[in-house]
Amino acid sequence: MNVTVIGTGYVGLVAGACLAETGNDVRCADLDATKIARLQQNDIPIYEPGLDTLVERNQSEGRLHFTTDVPAAVNGAEVIIIAVGTPPDEDGSADLRHVLAASRTIGANLTNESVIVTKSTVPVGTAAKIDEVLGSVATHPYHVCSNPEFLKEGDAVKDFLYPDRVIIGAATEHARSVLTELYAPFVRTGKPIIFMDVPSAELTKYAANAMLATRISFMNEIALLCERTGANVDLVRKGIGSDPRIGSSFLFPGAGYGGSCFPKDVKALIRTGHDVNASVDILSSVEAVNERQKRRLFEKVSTAIGDLNGAHVAIWGLAFKPNTDDLREAPALVLIDQLLAAGATVCAHDPVAMPEAKHRYGDRIHFADVNYDALAGADALVVVTEWNAYRNPDFTRIKTTLRRPVLIDGRNLYDPVKMHRIGFTYDSFGRLRP
Ligand code: NAD
Repeated sequence: MNVTVIGTGYVGLVAGACLAETGNDVRCADLDATKIARLQQNDIPIYEPGLDTLVERNQSEGRLHFTTDVPAAVNGAEVIIIAVGTPPDEDGSADLRHVLAASRTIGANLTNESVIVTKSTVPVGTAAKIDEVLGSVATHPYHVCSNPEFLKEGDAVKDFLYPDRVIIGAATEHARSVLTELYAPFVRTGKPIIFMDVPSAELTKYAANAMLATRISFMNEIALLCERTGANVDLVRKGIGSDPRIGSSFLFPGAGYGGSCFPKDVKALIRTGHDVNASVDILSSVEAVNERQKRRLFEKVSTAIGDLNGAHVAIWGLAFKPNTDDLREAPALVLIDQLLAAGATVCAHDPVAMPEAKHRYGDRIHFADVNYDALAGADALVVVTEWNAYRNPDFTRIKTTLRRPVLIDGRNLYDPVKMHRIGFTYDSFGRLRP
């Protein structure tokens, strides 16, 4: 099938590479000339495990093409996937500027009947807006569909190749049949393609992310209650997670959710609620709890070491979660900004996100190539991202390299009793200091 993907960020690039892997002829178009030039050389601009192999193989075998010529990429496409960014607007709503610009380009350059799919996360009613834009310029039949993407950064290739489910909002039989064919190779193990109307598909994506964000904020509040009452959140989590109605995923307290999706999608759904006079109050609380949670690491550092002016703090983990270099809305950024404002110096390590962080901070913070090198002369170590390499470190080495044995565990990775026995002043979320 001839497939065009507009936007080659985390979603568009993964979708394009995976669709080429199953034999489709895929053109990935993006306005960012630097990004496209790098991709043409198999130089992947993001860190995503397994993606480099897919891009290289499919590009060299002639099934995957990268271009900045978006109008030409539309020519002859049977399926056109819109995967451009939808950042939050000033009022929290999703900014549809890129989606509508891409739609105008599609409409003006259609050469045949085409299925046009929004994979970008867009509010209910967006497909109707795209339809309107296309209707004013297109001279060939088209079918606007919603196909929200559920991949997780860090696991994106695996999630795309082996999805839990594929959601398709489509209004015509033609669109349903084309998309069934496109996705057939990914659902051979019996995972469902769930067809629905377009608005339901658009809302499903927001509802999924809002539910996950709600679980995170809920557990962060339970963790705070544990700290104040002497309960242990690890035990409470196991106790509730064993109930199949609740399940055990997404029940880990931590430094708050970040990334390019949860914060903006929660905001956008709150905005949708306002717009239709159905305020989703629960999500306003989820957001407020998360903002507070992101600042709690700083409170824990201050409690442990007192005045931070002139203090030196080591940070392990900058990305908003492991296996990605994505720093968007990462809790580590909030902590670093607070530490710098308090007069502390910071030395950070992250397995892949340091180049991105150097972009942001320049020489305002220091970076260590090896995680242990960040500890020299530090008054505290704060672990912010649960990279595998941080899960079972050499604690004796950490303790002897730090100037003061303060360990703040932002992801509850370590055993509080063991940390106390080693001699750390140790703190985490929802587990009382022994
Ligand atoms: P991104 O910012 O990484 O990439 C977007 C790309 O679109 C950029 O390369 C940009 O240059 C390009 N672009 C913008 N306007 C364009 C235009 N008119 N024509 C061609 N290219 C254009 O974004 P992302 O993280 O891939 O997210 C894309 C969408 O998918 C968003 O709506 C997001 O909410 C959603 N989504 C993201 C994830 C994720 O984990 N990142 C997961 C599911 C859904």
